[in-house]
Order: sequence, then C-alpha cells, then structure tokens
Amino acid sequence: MQQDRSSAQTTTDPLDLVIAGGGMAGSMLAYVLLSQNPALKLAIVEQSSELGTDEQPSKASFDSRSIALAHGSVELLQQWGLWQALHQSGCAIKHIHISDRGHFGKTYLNAADHQLSALGQVIEVEAIGEVLWQKLKIFTAQGRLSWFYNDAISALNPTAELQHISLRSGAQLQSKLLVIAEGGLSPSRSLAGFELKSEDYQQHALIANIGLSDSHQHKAFERFTPTGPLALLPLTRQRYSLVWTLNPEQAEHHLNQPDHEFLAALQQAAGHRAGVFKTVGQRVVYPLSLKRATEAARHRTVLLGNSLHNLHPIAGQGFNLAVRDIFSLSLLLQKHQADTYTDWGCYALTKAYQQARLPDMQQVILYTDSLVRLFSNSSRLMALGRNTGLFALNLCPDLKQAVANQAMGLNSIRQLKALLTRA
Ligand SMILES: Cc1cc2nc3c(=O)[nH]c(=O)nc-3n(C[C@H](O)[C@H](O)[C@H](O)COP(=O)(O)OP(=O)(O)OC[C@H]3O[C@@H](n4cnc5c(N)ncnc54)[C@H](O)[C@@H]3O)c2cc1C
Repeated sequence: MQQDRSSAQTTTDPLDLVIAGGGMAGSMLAYVLLSQNPALKLAIVEQSSELGTDEQPSKASFDSRSIALAHGSVELLQQWGLWQALHQSGCAIKHIHISDRGHFGKTYLNAADHQLSALGQVIEVEAIGEVLWQKLKIFTAQGRLSWFYNDAISALNPTAELQHISLRSGAQLQSKLLVIAEGGLSPSRSLAGFELKSEDYQQHALIANIGLSDSHQHKAFERFTPTGPLALLPLTRQRYSLVWTLNPEQAEHHLNQPDHEFLAALQQAAGHRAGVFKTVGQRVVYPLSLKRATEAARHRTVLLGNSLHNLHPIAGQGFNLAVRDIFSLSLLLQKHQADTYTDWGCYALTKAYQQARLPDMQQVILYTDSLVRLFSNSSRLMALGRNTGLFALNLCPDLKQAVANQAMGLNSIRQLKALLTRA
C-alpha cells in the first residue's frame, strides 16, 4: 500500500481524529469508527517501517502471539462485522480447567453451564491483523484514512479548539482528538502529560504453539506451578497456545533448549491431563510488568489499549480491555453526534470516556494482579489458601458465576452500556 501523506499534510481543515499507533488497538479503533461514521476522516501515525506493504501488516503488534477473546469481546467483534471474517481462524474455548500443581484444589468452568456454546475464542493475532488490513485498505483508497508510516509524534501543542501535532518527519497535523494507542512503552503518553504507575513482576512469559497427539476437545488449562502460572489455550489444527510464566533465567533456559527437552520440561510442568505434547513452534519471551496510566483522558487526548493498561497476560484480559476501550469511544462518539455535537475532542466526551474506562480497568487490574500474586507464591500457607479457594468455587455456584462473568467480560460490557447511554 502506498503512503498517503498529502491529504493530511496540506489540508487546512483539521482532522476529526489522529490515532498514534497502528497496532491491534489503534487499527481496530480506526476500522470501527470509519465504518460507523461515513463522514469521518482520520490519520494513523505508526512508527513501524514494516507496516505498509500488502504482504506485511504491522509486525510490531501482530506478531506470532495468540490471544483469548472473551465471549463479550467476540460479541462486539460480531457487531462490528469483524468476527464474520475471523471465525474460521478462531478456536472455541468450551471448558476451562484450573488447578494447582501438586495440590488438591481444582475447578472447572463449562460453557454449557452458562447456556453458551463457548466461553471465548482463541485466535492468532496475525489473523486479526490480516482482516483489519484488508478492511482498512478500502478506507485508505477512499481518501478517508491517511497513514504516516515510519513516523512518530515529536511535539504536541494543544489549544482550546485543537490538538496540534508535529511529526518526526516534519509533517504537521491538526485534530479535534488525539488517541494514543502506542502500546505499553508509548512516548506520546508522556508528551501529553499522562502519569504512569509501573511495576515489574520480575517474571517473563514464554509463548509458543504446541502440537498435540490428540484433540484438545476445546479445553483450556490454567495451572499454577512453582515458577508462576501456566496457561494452555486451545488453538485450531490440534494445537495449544502456551503462556508459561517463568523467572528470567528459567525463561532464557527454556527458550534455548532443544525441542525434545523443552517438550519434556513442559509436559512435566503441565501434567498429562492436557494431553501429550508432540511439537513446539517458535518460542518467544516477553518481560512482564503492570503499567497503568492514572488518567484515561486529558485535554483533547485519550489513551487506548496498552498505552492505558498493560497487564500480565495470564488472565488473558489485556486486549479484551482494549476492545471495551474501543466500544466506549465509539459509543460516545455516536451519542455525541446524535446530540448534534461535531467536536469529537470536547471536554464532555473525553470526561465521559475517562469515567467509563477507569472503573473497568481498575477491576480487571485487581483481578489479574491478585491472580498473579496469589498463584506465583510457593508458601504453604498461600497454597492452602488458593486451594481452598479453588475448592470453594466448586461448592458455590454464585462465586463461580462471578468468576466466569469476569473471564467472559460480560458484566463489564453490561455496565458500560448502562453508563455510556447515561453519559
Ligand atoms: C504473551 C502475551 C499474551 C497475551 N495474551 C492475551 C490474551 O490471551 N487475551 C488478551 O485479551 N490479551 C492478551 N495479551 C495482551 C494483548 O496482546 C495486548 O493487549 C495488545 O497487543 C495491545 O495492543 P495495542 O495496540 O494497545 O499495543 P501494541 O500491540 O503494543 O501496538 C502498539 C502499536 O503502536 C506502535 N508504536 C509504538 N510506539 C509508537 C510511536 N512512538 N509512534 C507511533 N507508533 C508507535 C507499534 O509499532 C505498534 O504497532 C497478551 C500479551 C502478551 C505479551
């Protein structure tokens, strides 16, 4: 795809929206807003030089990872016309088995118990990238979407009416609203004056696709091991997507092991309930930390996706939160247009976005962080506590329903709909 700088660079009319970061969250937001608002014009600024060819959607964001999409997120993707193109690449999670290695506690969540065909879907992010890329190409061809590849924001000068954005390339953009979706390390977030709270978990996540000798029967496994939590998510073609939390030295060791040794070590850590592991694909290691901005919005600027919240991947909640960021912003923009506001960056809108996102984000951070801490601790007392907890889940249907709702993202979407229609 050709770079299209001219329309935005020379126009004296401000854009409705500029998105910094064309990764999973930024690209999906662009698609949702452009498909819902026929008059909208926006630009995406993406630092990656690998973006922008037909063969290669954003390598920076759409890498070899797979992610679990909660049932609520899949419903939103369906509503946005994305799941129809993605469903063949997705693998349904019908059961989740949660256990603690070497201890008695275990529990199961079953889709059928919640009158659903699936608790969620696991999908390779490359598939999401490909579908978004094909859809965004149409908007680019229509002149409604401009891309600034291999570029980044160098300065921000907000005035009462507009966000004035200078790019490293020298281009100058003006926009009613700037959405920062640059991932966890976002430099524009600090340029815009957002504060960040950050905590290093001193853990790494090793991820890989694991081939099985038999079908996984759509079961996901979450296991708590002495090194930290380990998740196996069912993937298409009789594979699991593995997320194995390890200390940095162990991660380095397993990263470089010959395949047969790696598979034996994994089998020992995961047990045999998940099946017999036969093959391992490319292994990648990610350092894990919790980063969260203290605000979701400032003057004519909002944060989205990992720039707002960067979580431990063990509960599979990071992108699900981003989907709800996108949902909130799209609903607010629609509502403000219906109320005849044309200013997409007005105070009422950015304030309502912040009010919608912070409670959901804090709840998910608390849930994920508690899981990480509870299940990364090898003390006997903690082991007793968590095993009693897992055991209690089986005895208490209401508690189990609450855990399932959190995992499926259902409560959050219901709460958001109620909140945003009042905003
Ligand atoms: C191992 C692992 C497993 C995960 N599993 C799950 C899961 O099961 N379920 C789930 O919901 N989530 C999961 N996540 C989280 C999920 O991957 C993230 O939430 C998601 O990638 C966030 O997307 P993003 O677009 O916000 O950020 P990113 O994917 O980081 O994309 C940021 C984009 O911005 C660009 N960029 C960066 N800096 C600049 C700049 N200065 N200027 C312009 N562009 C810039 C980058 O090139 C990139 O394209 C997992 C994460 C990891 C690491």
